[in-house]
Amino acid sequence: NLGALTPTWVPDFHQLSPTRWHAGTVTNKTTVKTLLILGASGDLTGRLLLPGLARLVAGGMADGLKLAGAGSDPWTAEQWTDRVRSAFDDAGKDADAAGREAIADMEANTEYHQVDVTADGQLAGLLAGLEAPVAVYFALPPHVSQKACEVLTADQLPPGTRLVLEKPFGSSPESAEDLNKTLARLVPEEHIYRVDHFLGKATVLNILGLRFANRFLEPVWNRDHIEKVEIIFDEDLALEGRARYYDTAGALRDMIQSHLLHIMALLAIDAPATIGERDLRDAISTILRASTVEAPYAKSTRRARYAAGTIGDRKVPDYAEEAGVDPSRNTETLAEVEVGIENWRWKGVPFILRSGKALGLMRKEAIITFRPVPHLPSGFEGVDASNQLRIGFGPDTLQLDVDVNGPGDIFTLDRVTLDAELSASDLLPYGEVLEGIIKGDPLLSVRGDTAVECWRIVEPVLKAWTEGSVPLEEYDAGGAGPADWPTAVGG
Ligand code: NDP
Repeated sequence: NLGALTPTWVPDFHQLSPTRWHAGTVTNKTTVKTLLILGASGDLTGRLLLPGLARLVAGGMADGLKLAGAGSDPWTAEQWTDRVRSAFDDAGKDADAAGREAIADMEANTEYHQVDVTADGQLAGLLAGLEAPVAVYFALPPHVSQKACEVLTADQLPPGTRLVLEKPFGSSPESAEDLNKTLARLVPEEHIYRVDHFLGKATVLNILGLRFANRFLEPVWNRDHIEKVEIIFDEDLALEGRARYYDTAGALRDMIQSHLLHIMALLAIDAPATIGERDLRDAISTILRASTVEAPYAKSTRRARYAAGTIGDRKVPDYAEEAGVDPSRNTETLAEVEVGIENWRWKGVPFILRSGKALGLMRKEAIITFRPVPHLPSGFEGVDASNQLRIGFGPDTLQLDVDVNGPGDIFTLDRVTLDAELSASDLLPYGEVLEGIIKGDPLLSVRGDTAVECWRIVEPVLKAWTEGSVPLEEYDAGGAGPADWPTAVGG
């Protein structure tokens, strides 16, 4: 019964006319004329979006772009301009004369609009008065963004409108699909940007360049030669006053459900024909569709919460005593899941994804551990015979551990590390995000089907955790995590 396999909603990702596609990417790219930021007074706008935009403007990458801000507050134009000016300040100081002029020009010409985006017709009325194409950036609480899209209709959107959404994209496969449906009513998928600022363009290209421009890697990049892949994002920051968001999210939703699954996909995909958004996002989607976390979840997942401790010279309270935390929620601050990829290349290789807060050591890396050599000629000594390739993120680095005959006894093998620095971007993460939006390139944006898949992968884990089938462990802030976790290092 093939009908039973049909998903409730089939995304319209490939319904575009062939003339609009070339080399795996969108060829009808048009540059955005107006960037409208909804949520002008919000934290994301002030701390990340405007500084990211400033770098683009100073670098001459946003010439001719108009900036408008909107919010439900009755701000004056001066209040908004002051906000823009203070966020642009740093970029202005570093810029050359042309960059300073471009920054001053945008500051002088930006406008503010008071609008309740959830009220019928208000956002549509605002859009009608802006120069098209407009990128509408929903820097709003997710439920407000959803409501704002629900009250819009396609005919209210000027031609070429882009809709830019912030994570989380739903909270389950069903709600992610609902959001997709709401958006699909308004604009084509290639005009929807689901922002994941975590993976900058340079990092994505660094992974793809390493994997697909080196002949020697591909023959060993599979289950025959790779024992396991670990992807670890540990931070030495604790809650830092973010209880309102974090206490209802936790490490699994905040990091693994979105960012770490994407890194896993980039490490696991087959070589795409092009680094165009269509080919790359198809490849990512294919891998995620093949990915699952196997039950029993007490074996394939672990979760823990930090207790009081010291990170460097900072004293950190018990998570349960942090302001705004409801301890009965049992929110995890450290999560680990083992994901399996059901295909010929990866069957049986564990992809271990781990992320935690308040750890002693900041680690952002993927570690690929190769299988030991089948036979080490007797006579050699001093080696554990597993090569490791480590890709560090932010700054991006590469390290390959190999065993060689070192100085001294020629029969004793020593481990040496070959290392390299990888490419870095001059733009802030949100500068890269905005550059793609302004130029019309959704390469780094999360496609709708992928957002659904990411929730589908973690949903059974979230359910098992809510039901209490996986114990909530404890670790000291500033440590390495619970002592017997194999991924624990340092502290
Ligand atoms: P804030 O609560 O700081 O800001 C929300 C903004 O929404 C305010 O400016 C508020 O404006 C505006 N707003 C709320 N309701 C309405 C409405 N009905 N009409 C018009 N404007 C409205 O949120 P953040 O900036 O922190 O987060 C925004 C989004 O970005 C969220 O989805 C979040 O998950 C995501 N995000 C945030 C990050 C961060 O570091 N802050 C990082 C990554 C993602 P007013 O006061 O005028 O109503």
